[in-house]
Amino acid sequence: MFRVKHDDFESVIGLEVHAHLLTESKIFCSCSTKFGAEPNSHTCPTCMGLPGALPVLNRKVVTFAIKLGLALNCTVNRRSIFARKNYYYPDLPKGYQISQYEEPLCTDGYVNIISQNNSKIIRVKRVHMEEDAGKLVHESTIETSSYSLVDYNRSSVPLLEIVSEPDMATPDEAVRYLKMLRDILIYLEICDGNMEEGSFRCDANVSVKRKGVSELGTRTELKNLNSFKHIEKALDYEIQRQIEVIQNGGEVVQETRLFNVNEGITYSMRGKEEAHDYRYFPEPDLLPLVIDNTWVEEAEKTLPELPFKKMERFIKQYQLPMYDVEILVSDKSLASYFEEVVQSFPEPKTVSNWIMTELLRELKDANISPREAPLTPQHLSELLSLIKDGTISTKIGKDIFPEIFKTGISPKRLVEEKGLIQISDEKAIIETIDTIISRHPEEVAEFKAGKEKLLGFFVGQVMKETKGKANPKLLNELMLKRLKGND
Ligand code: ADP
Ligand code: MG
Ligand code: ZN
Repeated sequence: MFRVKHDDFESVIGLEVHAHLLTESKIFCSCSTKFGAEPNSHTCPTCMGLPGALPVLNRKVVTFAIKLGLALNCTVNRRSIFARKNYYYPDLPKGYQISQYEEPLCTDGYVNIISQNNSKIIRVKRVHMEEDAGKLVHESTIETSSYSLVDYNRSSVPLLEIVSEPDMATPDEAVRYLKMLRDILIYLEICDGNMEEGSFRCDANVSVKRKGVSELGTRTELKNLNSFKHIEKALDYEIQRQIEVIQNGGEVVQETRLFNVNEGITYSMRGKEEAHDYRYFPEPDLLPLVIDNTWVEEAEKTLPELPFKKMERFIKQYQLPMYDVEILVSDKSLASYFEEVVQSFPEPKTVSNWIMTELLRELKDANISPREAPLTPQHLSELLSLIKDGTISTKIGKDIFPEIFKTGISPKRLVEEKGLIQISDEKAIIETIDTIISRHPEEVAEFKAGKEKLLGFFVGQVMKETKGKANPKLLNELMLKRLKGND
């Protein structure tokens, strides 16, 4: 049989993301949206779908959706329509989901992502509002056979669905897009981005085609992806699988597949439903949504500097490498922490290094956010100034970092209290050098015979003797002079 080489294929990915909105109440009733409450305690006739109960649209949901639309460079349509998406499932008490279909709120936007040091535009087809379904909890015990319980707390929690065009070429690009989208939602303070609790969920559509062919291949849809790692793995697997199907003379079937995390493979779950299967029609219980310019302008005024803009600015203003910028900007509070330190200690790369290594390590160990750290931007700039003016060595700075982090003590005070001030006095250093040299005559002879890498050994010994307080630059110079001297 004629085989097509693996390299002859390329993959195409389009993503549908669901984001839970950080409103206090649900989209069509006043029940709380809080996660983790006693099952069915956040319910009322409307979100339980009881006869006669009517939906009332939550204004804040619309404002949040407008903000996202603007942040994603979409057209915010002044008129949009809610629609019923009909299907039956026990977690959907009304027998339909209120969503938007033919006239969504936001259309035709884009997101800038960074891919291999270039930026790339991923088009966003639409952003619409909808309600979430409830949640089935599957139980089984030894005494009973397995059974399922339904919790309607999540029923009618507001969601934004963000649908991309099929513009991503690799799993890596898909993950970059998702991270950027998640960052934007968090920057806007409209979604907490928590993937484990399902506040940020993604279905991935993927197909493969022969290189150079413009027509898209048949796609499959992957569900159940709740971490960036799973998304990347599932896409890698699925691309490989589709290529093999075609190589073996078969055809990819359009279907929905589930990713099994433990086995790292995808399974067919059901044939893909088509839009017409849902019998969409305009929601008769809600008027068309009409938005005036003031509403949009008010939302626009509250937009913060968004991640991509901030990245561009950080590169230009602080001359930082892409690697640093991606890490700093991925968290709005980390980015502002950085900027605060740089204001009083204007050496951006040094500040960035300390944040990316020392600070992030301590934050991770303590499992807290930058703003919760007892070591404030003022502490860090004070510490870096002590190093810069030679009061303490870099090594001592790193050694005392965890203590400042935990206690919030002023670096200056700690250094004084512990007597950690660096020895920059030549005479004092030379004295210690002499002591060390007299203790190690054999090594001195070896050095003189050409084994120059022993310099490190001698410097290390002096550091040990002075408990790390000798000024390293000065020590190195003096030690070399002493060892190379003619005495
Ligand atoms: P549906 O409503 O049936 O899910 P959509 O047209 O809304 O279909 O598309 C869903 C997602 O699938 C979009 O993100 C889109 O970019 C993506 N998509 C569509 N066709 C393909 C394809 N051939 N390969 C990969 N992704 C695709
Ligand atoms: Mg869809
Ligand atoms: Zn309710």
